[in-house]
Amino acid sequence: MSKPFLVNVTEEIVNGLVKFLLYGTEYQTFCHCDYCEKEIAADVLNQLPSYYVSTAEARDQAFRKLKSPENIEMINKQIILSIHAVGKKPDHKKMSNLSN
Ligand SMILES: [Zn+2]
Repeated sequence: MSKPFLVNVTEEIVNGLVKFLLYGTEYQTFCHCDYCEKEIAADVLNQLPSYYVSTAEARDQAFRKLKSPENIEMINKQIILSIHAVGKKPDHKKMSNLSN
């Protein structure tokens, strides 16, 4: 058996989906800096239940469970809300200038 670890499978799925959506054609006009990408992921993860696992086997099971079409659709909806919310923040430009 592999070494135990601690990961939030929801976080792993959300990180991948945020990148996928943000770099897709629909959100080309939104800022793609690291600050905004992490801010979007944080906002999404604060709305969704976490799903922590400590073994590779449990991680595989969680992935299969969480990657159902209904669940991915629900997560994508939240990501879209968060992309718009982060894009509207007044400190967004200032923060992205600082990090550039
Ligand atoms: Zn930005």
